Amino acid sequence: MAQLSLKHIYKRYPNGFEAVKDFNLEVADKEFIIFVGPSGCGKSTTLRMIAGFNSIEGGDIYFNDTRINDMDPSRRNIGMVFQNYALYPHLTVEQNIAFPLVNHKEGKEEIRRRTLEMARLVQIEDLLKRKPGQLSGGQQQRVAIARALVKRPDILLLDEPLSNLDARLRLEMREEIRRIQTETGVTTVFVTHDQEEAMSITDEIVLMRTGVVQQQCPPQQMYLNPANRFVAGFLGNPPINFFRLDVCGGTVCLAEDYMLRVHGAADGPVLVGIRPEAWRLGQGLRTAAEAVEMRGKDLLVTFSLAGERARAILDITAGVAAGDAVELTLEPRLVYIFDPETGARLDAEVAG
Ligand code: ATP
Repeated sequence: MAQLSLKHIYKRYPNGFEAVKDFNLEVADKEFIIFVGPSGCGKSTTLRMIAGFNSIEGGDIYFNDTRINDMDPSRRNIGMVFQNYALYPHLTVEQNIAFPLVNHKEGKEEIRRRTLEMARLVQIEDLLKRKPGQLSGGQQQRVAIARALVKRPDILLLDEPLSNLDARLRLEMREEIRRIQTETGVTTVFVTHDQEEAMSITDEIVLMRTGVVQQQCPPQQMYLNPANRFVAGFLGNPPINFFRLDVCGGTVCLAEDYMLRVHGAADGPVLVGIRPEAWRLGQGLRTAAEAVEMRGKDLLVTFSLAGERARAILDITAGVAAGDAVELTLEPRLVYIFDPETGARLDAEVAG
């Protein structure tokens, strides 16, 4: 097992495109970390640099104390799982799992023992004689994980491993990957573009945008304390709403008869971010519900605020219908103030 360090990593593709800029990361031994961000932000590029499939144009990668920038991928002792599983279609499940050990010229008994051990770990002992074409997507992904783990890698890299599965299987495999990681203790980096997946699977996430790390911390902390406008907008479903407003004498006017007190922000234009769940029925903003959508136990109410469309998630017992007059109040901890130009979070505290 290994500790992984990325120091000032920089990636420029031969066409000159800068895919990753000054990426810094420390992953402790046995830790499970997620890279999340929109398509094209550089998650896979970074993973491929760790694996050795991509060259590194700047910075250093260390496994424990060994700098591995120029180490051949085959010597890095990494297990990798891809979105499309990449199983060998003409080999049985057993042969697929055993493949890295056969390649490594391990003894027959050892291969058999470790293949069975892995099949048991991912719970596919009864499928060993089948070919990949005779398996469901979730079963194929289990085989791919077993094959990645059979050589006891120092680090496990998973690149969008759940993308090809339907919603129910994704949930099941999420829990399975977490269980397998806990049981084996293998240091793991998991890549996804799905913020809900990222928020639910692990204790630590790294959020990227255009090759730059935006924030790294536990998911709940990132949700409650976004570092900038991008982070606030990326996490949350339905997403946060933003309003261009002005701070004036320590207050922000959301409407003629509704204002918030703000400590620590200078007078001038700001961008105010309000999460839909910040709203609840109560004395405050008088408005009208323009649309109401049932979302399981919640109501998603759309209304106008400061010339923009705003959304509130209310409890189903609120009994609000489209066209109704409503009065809403805010939970200030879910309201954020950003610089309207840079999107940086301002060190300002919102009070009710
Ligand atoms: P996705 O979620 O879509 O897989 P990603 O965050 O993993 O996205 P990467 O695959 O790392 O993104 O790509 C990052 C950027 O680098 C993208 O803009 C992509 O077009 C670009 N890129 C990837 N491979 C190359 C290449 N070989 N040459 C030039 N640019 C590339």
